[in-house]
This record gives sequence, C-alpha cells and structure tokens, in this order.
Amino acid sequence: MISLSINGRSVEAAESETVLQAAARAGIVIPTLCFDPRISPVGGCRICSIEIEGEPHPQIACRTQVQDGMQVITHSPALEDFRRTLLSWEAKRVLPSSFSAEPDKDLHRLLRHYGIAPSGKRTQPRDLSHPLIQVDMSQCIDCLRCVHICEDLQGQFVWHALDRGADMHIVPDSATTLATSSCVACGACVDTCPTSALTDRNSGRGADIENWTRTTCVYCGVGCEMNVGSSKGKITRIRPVIDAPVNKGHLCIKGRYAFSFNHARDRQTRPLARSGRKWVPQSWDAALDQTAAEFTRIAATYGSDSIGVLGSARATNEENYLAQKFARIVLGTNNVDCCARVCHTPSAAALKAMLGAGAATNSFDDLELARTIFVFGANPLENHPVVGARIRQHVLKTGANLIVADPRETELARMASVHLRLRPGTNIALLNGLAHVIATEQLFDRKFLHERVTAWDEFSDFIKDWTPERAEVICGVSADTIRKAARLYARVKPSMSFHGLGLTEHTQGTEGVMALINLALMTGSLGKPGAGINPLRGQNNVQGAAHMGCDPATLTGSVPIDERRAAFETVWKTPIPHSRGRDLLSMMDEAEAGRLKALYVIGYDVLPTLANMTATKRAFRNLEFVVVQDLFITETAKVAGHVFLPAASVFEKDGTFMNAERRIQRVRKATAPPGECRTDWQIICALADRMGHGEQFRYECAEDIWNEVRQVWPEGAGMSYSRLEMGGLQWPCRSQDDPGTTILHQESFGHDRRAALAKIEYSPTPEQTSEDFPFLLSTGRTLYQFNSGTMTMRTANSKLRPTDTLDMSPADAERLGAANGGRVRVSSRYGSVSIEVRVTPLVTSGELFATFHDRRVGLNSLTGPFRDNRVQAPEYKVTAVRVERMR
Ligand code: SF4
Repeated sequence: MISLSINGRSVEAAESETVLQAAARAGIVIPTLCFDPRISPVGGCRICSIEIEGEPHPQIACRTQVQDGMQVITHSPALEDFRRTLLSWEAKRVLPSSFSAEPDKDLHRLLRHYGIAPSGKRTQPRDLSHPLIQVDMSQCIDCLRCVHICEDLQGQFVWHALDRGADMHIVPDSATTLATSSCVACGACVDTCPTSALTDRNSGRGADIENWTRTTCVYCGVGCEMNVGSSKGKITRIRPVIDAPVNKGHLCIKGRYAFSFNHARDRQTRPLARSGRKWVPQSWDAALDQTAAEFTRIAATYGSDSIGVLGSARATNEENYLAQKFARIVLGTNNVDCCARVCHTPSAAALKAMLGAGAATNSFDDLELARTIFVFGANPLENHPVVGARIRQHVLKTGANLIVADPRETELARMASVHLRLRPGTNIALLNGLAHVIATEQLFDRKFLHERVTAWDEFSDFIKDWTPERAEVICGVSADTIRKAARLYARVKPSMSFHGLGLTEHTQGTEGVMALINLALMTGSLGKPGAGINPLRGQNNVQGAAHMGCDPATLTGSVPIDERRAAFETVWKTPIPHSRGRDLLSMMDEAEAGRLKALYVIGYDVLPTLANMTATKRAFRNLEFVVVQDLFITETAKVAGHVFLPAASVFEKDGTFMNAERRIQRVRKATAPPGECRTDWQIICALADRMGHGEQFRYECAEDIWNEVRQVWPEGAGMSYSRLEMGGLQWPCRSQDDPGTTILHQESFGHDRRAALAKIEYSPTPEQTSEDFPFLLSTGRTLYQFNSGTMTMRTANSKLRPTDTLDMSPADAERLGAANGGRVRVSSRYGSVSIEVRVTPLVTSGELFATFHDRRVGLNSLTGPFRDNRVQAPEYKVTAVRVERMR
C-alpha cells in the first residue's frame, strides 16, 4: 500500500490503483463522463481532470496511477470551471425532452449538478428499427462507452467509431440500422450510454421510476443479479447490478428486456375451475376446497401413490422445499419431481455417483483462470449468455484454448482452437477416444491419479481399445482432431469444462457426464482453481428445485431418503412414506396406464416441453384431476387442467434461487401480485392447512421457510437471510462464519478421498435414421426465447424471433427445394409439425436443428420415447425425421 493526499486528506491506496479508484474508496467523488467501471478507461472527456502538485497541467483521474506522496486536488475553482465549460459544449447535444425523461443518464446528472441547461435539437432522424433499443445519434457525445462496452463486456463488436475529430460518429456494424447489425440486444450499450443517444424502448420513462429492487433473474441458471425499476405497481425497466459477482454489470436480452409478460393482458389473476370446455372464476376458498377434496378422495380411493407433484425451476428454493414436503407428508407420496428430470438430472446423478456431490465443482470466476476451456454440448452464447460472453472474452483477451464439442458450428465453435464436430448421439465414443489419448500418451497427472483416483488399472485396460481411429468411425471426428483436443485439455492446464444438454439429453446422458468426469480425474482437473466439471444449468432455479427435494429419491440437500429420514421426520413431525417415488417420466407412464390419477403442477408447462408430446397428451387426458398453479393458462392447463391457481411471479415475491455454481442468491419482491394472485408458498400452505397439516405449514414469510431448510440441510445451515442480504453464498456453507465453498473436492471428494474412474461402453441409441427418416434432428433453445415461451413469447423478444425455426444446411435445402423462410413439414416416427426453415451452413448436411418454444409449432410432437438409461431424462437431441417442402 502507498499513501497519497487527496484534497488534503491522507488516503491509502494499492499501487495498481488509479486516483479515481483511490478517491472513490475514500468517499471522494470525482465527476466522470466517459468512465464506466466495466470497461477500460477511455480518458477522452477530461471531466475527471485533477491537479497534481508538480504537474504543469491537469491530469485525468481515471488513467492516472497513484504514487506514494502524491498531492491531489479534485475540485479547485479552475477545475470546476473547466468541467462547466466542457459540459456546456455537451449540453448543446442534449434534447430538453430527453433531459427530463431520463434524469439518471450520467451526462444529465452532471448538467443538473452544474446548473447547465440542455439546448440540443434533433439533427438527424432516430433509428427506430430495433424493437428494444432506440438510437438517436444527434445526442451522441462520442464518448465511446458503447463501443468499448460492446467489445469489453459482450464481445460482439457492434458499435464502431468512424472518422476522427469533429467528424467522428458512431455507427452499428451494418453501417445502416441497428436492426440489421449483429446486435444481440444485451442492452449493455444502452446501460452505459451517458446520454439519450441509446435508450430502451418499451421501457417507460426513467423519470417515472419510483423504486429499484435488487433481485435475481428468472431465466437461465447463470443467476444474474438485476435492479428492477417499478412505477405504479408495474415493472418498467431492468438494469444489471454493477458489482454482482456472477454477471459483473451485464445481462442478456432475456434478463434485460423480457419482463413485460408480468403485466400481460392474459395473466390470470383469479382462481378458476373447469366447467366443460370453459374456465369459471372461483373464490380462493372454493378452489382450495375443491383441490383438497379431490386429493383426499383420490388418495382414499386409489392410494397416495396415485397422486404426483411437480415443482418448478421458476419457483424459489423455499417453494420447492414446501412442494416436496407437501407431497411427502400431506399427500403421503414420494411421487415428486421437477423439470431437472428433463435436463440436468443426468449431470447431478453422474457427479453425485462419481464425486459425491451432484453439482458444479467450481465457480464461474474460475473460467478466467483456465488456460483451456472445454465446452461440451452447450451453446452458452445463446443459452447462458453472460457466461458465454465471459468465455468468449477470456479467449479473446488471453488466448486461452477453447475446445468445443458440438455437431453444429456454433459461434464459440467458430472461434475454438479445436471444434469436435461429432455426430449426434456419439458422445461416449468421442469421450472415450479422448481418454485413450490421455492414457496411452501418458498425459495424465500421475500424482493426482495416485492420491485421489481409484480403478486406474481396470480403466486403462478398458480404454486401450478406444483408439481415436475407432472413435472416428463412430463419431465422425478425425482421429487427429481427437488427439489434438486431448493433448490441449491434458497439457495446457488448468482445464475447465462446461457442459450442457448436448451431453445429457441422450440415452447415455448420465454416462456421458461420467465419461467427461473421467477426463478430469485422469488429468487432475478437479479441486483446483480454473478447473472442474461444470454443468451449465438452463433454468434459473433448476439446481435449487431438485436440490430442495423435488426428486422422488432424495430429500433436501440431495440425500437419499433413508439416509436422513429420521432427521426430517423430527422436524416435520410426520413420517415420510416408504414407497418408491416416481419420477416425471414414470408418472407419465403410470398416468397412461391409468394408475396415476392426479397431478399437482406448479410453474411448469409440461405438455409442450416434454418429449413425445402425443404420449404426454394421452397421459394427461387419462388423469382424473390436474391442478395447474401458474401465471397463465398454459398448454398443460388447456389440455388437462381442472383447477387453475393464479400464482405470483418472480417479481412479486421474496425467497432465494440457487444458480449453476451452487450460489444461493436473494429474490426480492419488487411489486405486489396483481388481483388475487398468491405466492406459490402461500398456496401450498393454504392447501396443506385444508388437508389437516396446517401446523407443519405455518410460516409468516419466505425467511421462516428458509430457516427450516437450513435446519434440515447441514450444508446450507450457514446461509441466513441476513448474510444473503450482503451477497450470495455457495454451499457447502455450514455455519454463520463459513465463507462458503467456491471450489469443491479440494482435499477429498464428497464421499471419499478418492474417486473411481468409470468404464463406460458406447451403446448406440435405438433412434436411428432410415430410408423413411433420413435426417437426424436435434432440438434446443434460441437466445431470444425461453422454454415453452410462456414468458418470453409475451414480450417484445418475439419481434426478434417470432417463431421456431428449423436450421438446414444449404446442400439439403437445395436438394429439397426448401427456401430460407419457407415452410416444411417435418415428420418423425412419433408425430409431425410444420415449421419455418433457416438455411445455414452451421449445420451439417443430413442433420437438422430446431428450437422448441412456439406452442403453435409444437416441436415436441417429433421427439421420441427413448430415455437416459440411468435417470430417465428424455433423448431430445436425437430424432430421425424426414422433411417435405410445403407448397
Ligand atoms: Fe438472466 Fe441468464 Fe441472461 Fe443472466 S444470462 S440475464 S441469468 S437469462
């Protein structure tokens, strides 16, 4: 540390700090205009000028490094005059209407502070081409913040400065409109722009915002923190939290802009009951009475195991905890599951089985320490965009190696050192080929193998046969490319892997994750910074929903029921049933067979999102009683619902979410629920009360529930709300003074000091192409939409991606006569849909990729009945189809 004087005050500072940073830490605010802590200092505006003793001219604080003994003045009359002069020039660009509409823009705040009136006039037309961002370059002051933030934070390089000096102007990379540029609408440029040159559309006036509430995003499992602006009880704007540990001042299009669903006209705000084909409004008493009476009748007639409960990734940890508690002690069944079943249960199962903890081993912050990043079956730039942007930035800035395993040439694959472009359904062959190279070329970590790994002899014997040449025949990746990837992963360490549903949604999904863990065990890439096995969770609280116990075989904390039965029964004061619970897929089978009679569906539109939609429909139609608790009449409710219970949204309740790196973060209420909507936890408690279990479901607030969670979950015991108020914590966090755990397995694994390698044989999926079904179809998400589209399809995101599309290679499109934007009929052995074509070289000839968000398309009519051989997750990634052009 060194010491300097600022305005006569002695200030301690680190040698690497700038004067601006040192002053800010000391509570001295130096005005800035072109500065944003998220980007490298530009130093162009000179508003942060300071006087330094011994320097003939003012210096700029954002780029001047502190020095021991430095004497700094920040607000002399001369400096303040200088600032006033500079700001007076800029004020000529500011429209008075913008000045009053957006008082929080940095330039507008400075003008107010210095008493300078804006006097700008519009000198060029606005660019209103983009549905989310308005561009008004007559108010641009050429500070370059938009250019730098797009480069430094998002890595998209949309904005460019053309010409120099007085002629400088900022243009999108299309050189015309923003809509035709490569913009991905993360909103970072709007967020940093200090004027109204870039503003949000559909976002109301900043001046009208009454409250800002810090909370956590409802979309993907990255878990970005955001400030939610509200006005007159409505959400009107969302901005990123600058110092959030996960997103570090960034958001993606969904977190930033997809909030208007909250106030959609068709939001259901009263309980409803089905009468014939119609929904009839009910009082809460009537709806809850009917639900309680039906559950009681069905349990008495067919037994408790004829009822199932589905928790939700959109609900908080507290609510999912109550959902499984309700299933187990009110309904008396372990038939409880959640949407983790269809995405990352394979990850959790593999990690738990091999390493003893069913969650990501490391933290997102580790990715900036990795020298090699291995992305397997994931497209984070679209599905986990803020982490995707961080991976891209790390590779661009440091030259870290990137290996991408994906059948498609995704954006990350294009910039990868090695792209393993494998055939869908052949993950195991590829991973075994990689393991073979590591084993036979002795690229393993001998010390780690000796100290932390077992079953090496059996494994090395097994992997001998998996030559890259053998793997090449199956997966289509050349043996040389497999060797190159294995050498990079094993030699240029630390190596960190991220994986997604491209690894898990297969008949060998769990085994795929196990084969990936083998690589980490062999190379010692576990228990260290910049390493590990890290599933990218696609839904905000999917990790939390399952971890809280919405899983038929485990209780809160992911412990097998019999391991902690007694502890839970003591707290719950009721026995937990002994019967084997059914997972979501088994529940569907049981419903189809007529043995499951009722389902309580909380915040989960099962019907359009589960594979093999025709079978799902049959199963749902067989049920005697279905309760849907949601914001909207979902497809599930439409087809099968008997009672609809209107729930509060994520913006309307308190609680916590758990992100993909085991971080528990607060969810905070920004507005009151509309009409008669209630939070999920209140509804569950009211139902439990009606069914004679009021005593065990008596809570005043979400924090009360969380405190009970902490009581039954030792690894979460240290995470009180008062601590979470200060920021998220990663479990294990066992006591109030435990800082949490950023890296798992440093000394030993969850179950033992050593972990065993797993011999995984490749077994091809039964879903194969044939003469009738010659294409292989994979499904996935797009950046712009989310899951069944219940939320995003009700926002302006739909203007950017209005419907699902089928990606097809140019060669196949030409052969079939399918044009870009034209419609085709896609048929599988299970169903048929009509969908718009996108001709793109990003997919290989013979393969197709389609999104699944639009209920009008109903893409899951195509996907089939095959499931993960260990945990039953559906095989969404491989379906044989044929394609016919529609006229
Ligand atoms: Fe939300 Fe995920 Fe986007 Fe972050 S990256 S804003 S958590 S959807």
